[in-house]
Amino acid sequence: MSVSVTVWNEFRHEKKVEAIAKIYPEGIHTVIANGLNEAGLDVRTATLDEPEHGLTKEVLNKTDVLIWWGHAAHGEVSDEIVERVYGRVMDGMGLICLHSAHYSKIFKKCMGTTCNLKWREAGEKERLWVISHGHPIVDGIPEYFEIPQAEMYGECFDIPEPDELVLISWFAGGEVFRSGCCFHRGKGRIFYFRPGHETYPIYYQAEVMKIITNAAKWAAPGSGPAPVFGNRQPLEKLE
Ligand code: ZN
Repeated sequence: MSVSVTVWNEFRHEKKVEAIAKIYPEGIHTVIANGLNEAGLDVRTATLDEPEHGLTKEVLNKTDVLIWWGHAAHGEVSDEIVERVYGRVMDGMGLICLHSAHYSKIFKKCMGTTCNLKWREAGEKERLWVISHGHPIVDGIPEYFEIPQAEMYGECFDIPEPDELVLISWFAGGEVFRSGCCFHRGKGRIFYFRPGHETYPIYYQAEVMKIITNAAKWAAPGSGPAPVFGNRQPLEKLE
């Protein structure tokens, strides 16, 4: 059965800034959704200004993996919807947070840290290195690939130690960054993936879209048992 993905986008920059609208005329979410569609995934989109940010209970209940892109309006995402998304992650829904979603309410809630980092917007080269060989998220990806122009994100990145670190970035200005980080929270799998600043055509790049596609497949829920808590009777007769 195909993985059911919802691509969520704040969708503000593309409507307000002409240079960004030229790169993503129908929004970042549409480009990502098209890429996932071509890879055979079952995709819908949702944006901030829709009722309930497009993330109704009905939509979330049929979402295997939620992809999140936000930047300028994290504060406008309602706490009630964040709780709803969090509940679904605990219940097994996958969550992929892209680029500036490091500062989204849902990512910070899942991490429990500030998620702060260094940044610089100078259009410099980024080189991403695969450091977890054989990980399904880097299927079909070479040892390294480059993004010609990127915003720099640098360490220290204030996140908990990732359960798996799949990619690291080097920037022409000299900084490094943990660019592909896997986490487990409740029954859910979370992947943070760094590339994607809105003023560069990064989501049109084949390697970037391949990693997002692989990550969606990786983050899709399994069928393991739900966790059980609390007082319990012994399974065997105790002497
Ligand atoms: Zn950015």
